[in-house]
This record gives sequence, structure tokens and C-alpha cells, in this order.
Amino acid sequence: MTEAWGPDDEDEPRLRGASGPVRVRVPAKINLHLGVGPLRPDGYHELNTVYHAISLHDELTARRGDTLTLTMEGEGTGELALDDSNLVIRAAHALAAYAGVPPYARLHLRKQIPLAGGLAGGSADAAAALVACDALWGTGLSRDELAAIAAGLGSDVPFLIHGGTALGTGRGEAVSPVLARPTSWHWVVAVADGGLSTPEVYRELDRLRAAGAAAAPLGSADALLAALRQRDPAVLAAALGNDMQAAALSLRPALAATLKAGEAAGALAGLVSGSGPTCVFLAADGSDAERIAAEIEAAGVCRAARAAHGPMPGARVV
Ligand code: ATP
Repeated sequence: MTEAWGPDDEDEPRLRGASGPVRVRVPAKINLHLGVGPLRPDGYHELNTVYHAISLHDELTARRGDTLTLTMEGEGTGELALDDSNLVIRAAHALAAYAGVPPYARLHLRKQIPLAGGLAGGSADAAAALVACDALWGTGLSRDELAAIAAGLGSDVPFLIHGGTALGTGRGEAVSPVLARPTSWHWVVAVADGGLSTPEVYRELDRLRAAGAAAAPLGSADALLAALRQRDPAVLAAALGNDMQAAALSLRPALAATLKAGEAAGALAGLVSGSGPTCVFLAADGSDAERIAAEIEAAGVCRAARAAHGPMPGARVV
């Protein structure tokens, strides 16, 4: 579908790539472990996290164009700015600058991942834009090169290039895959009405910690990594943890009722996803996940609940 970027003849280098549309699918992420360390001098917190990509997707289609444009449908339409502030546009510009090509494309986003939901939807879209434009423009970068550009766009973006289950350190941008025998984990994703701003949730966590009102930081992800290797949902359930949960609950106390409803429905564990307000629940298997999703939705404690599974691959041409 794509050809290498390179000179067509010696005098007139020409851009090669896909002539037809390139469609890229990208997953949402949850954090199985989110250990938030101290605030660093650069304003970021030191993280020890285990990312996990799940079967809730955004899709980005890239077509040839004479300028760079973005349209969208689905979650967040009418709310999300489609200008240079959008991570899709920023990613296209970053790739074009790196590869030395003009940043021209017609991009269309189909969004299922809720805005500001703690599922890294914006980062997922940035990762999708890097992969889609790389194929459209024929720039032929490796996943590692794309991940390096991704790190400049946001802490979660490199993970969404790779997908799967991975350990994230630094501010989350240093990603190494968790190698485990293939296991599917079954989740319920309970989407809230409205989002939470990630920087605000970090500020609330700092405030709770300064006031001595937060639990001890989780620290390393070693116990979670050991639990993953056992491939038993009950063992994984006991190891899930998120330092940001207390702060998300403090800003959005109604999430306690969502977590309770999941527990009442028989989920093995429930936790806030990233900075929230989405809550995720671990189920014993796929049919249990469907049943728990229906019960949580019937309890009226979230906007929507649906079953999902993971790990899923990162941003990929489909
Ligand atoms: P994270 O878990 O990485 O903190 P999140 O899931 O809480 O992220 P996102 O939906 O990724 O939140 O986006 C947060 C903010 O990023 C949005 O409120 C919006 O202002 C901005 N943004 C820019 N581009 C996008 C995009 N394509 N999709 C979603 N948000 C975007």
C-alpha cells in the first residue's frame, strides 16, 4: 500500500506514499498500576505505570490534500477544537518537520474514546496521526522513530504507538513492553458525564498529599508485573492500583457510587482509569464483562458502560 519516500529521479525528488486513503485504528489505554512519585523540577511527576491498551478505538483516515485539514464525528464533536491546538494537527506538523515534507493531508477522525476521560484519547489520536501520515507521505519511519516524535507530543503518546501492555517510567514516555504469555483480560469501561482535567487532578493529588490526606504512594509496579505473569484475573484484581484515584474521587465524589455499582455487580476489582473520571472493572471472562456492563448501566451511575478486552495493538493501518 505504501512505497518508500525517496527521489524518483535524481534531479527531481518527489514524495511517494499511499495514493488512496489510509485508515488507522488506535486503542484507548487504561493504567493497571499508576504510581505517582514526587513533582520534578520540570513540573512533571515521576511515574511508575503499567499501561494496557483496550478494545475501545478511535479511527483516523488520511487522504491526500493541498493543505492540512481535520474533520471529525463521534465523541466530542462540536466540543473539540479542530485547529492547531488539536493533537492530530500537532502530530502531523511534528512528523512533517522531522521528515522534511510538506504537512498536507485531509484528516478525518471517528472518535469513540470520550474526551478528558482518563483514557488518553487525545494521545491516541496523536499516535494515529503519526502512523497515518507516515503511511500517506511514505516517510517510512520505524516505530521507534515515531515513538521518539510521539514523546514530544505527550507522555502517553509513545505507548499508543506500541500498544499491548507496557511499563512506563519517567513522565510515562519511556515505554518498555511487558513480555508475557498471551492472555486476554476482560474489562468493563464505565464512561462518566463530562471529563476531568488531568493537570487539575494532579494538583488535587499534590494538595491531598501536602495535607497528609492521601495514602502512601504505590511506588514500583513489581507486584503488578508479577500478578500479570500468573494469568489469573483474581490475582490481577488484587494488584491493580492508582495513586490518582483519591484525587479524582475528591474532585468527583459521585464516582464512589460507580465503583460501588461495579463491586455489587460482581466485578473482581474496580478502579478509576488514569486521571478519571472513567472507571474500569476487571471481569472473570467476556460474558461476565457483558453482564456487569449491563448491570452498571442499569444502576444509572454513569453515562454508558461497555465491555472491552485487552491487550490490543497500538496505532495500526487497517
Ligand atoms: P490522559 O489520560 O492522557 O490525561 P484524557 O483521556 O484525560 O487524557 P484527552 O481526551 O486525551 O484526556 O484530552 C485532554 C485534552 O486534550 C482535551 O480536553 C482537549 O483539550 C485536548 N485535545 C487536543 N486534541 C485532542 C484530541 N484529538 N482528542 C481529545 N482531546 C484533545
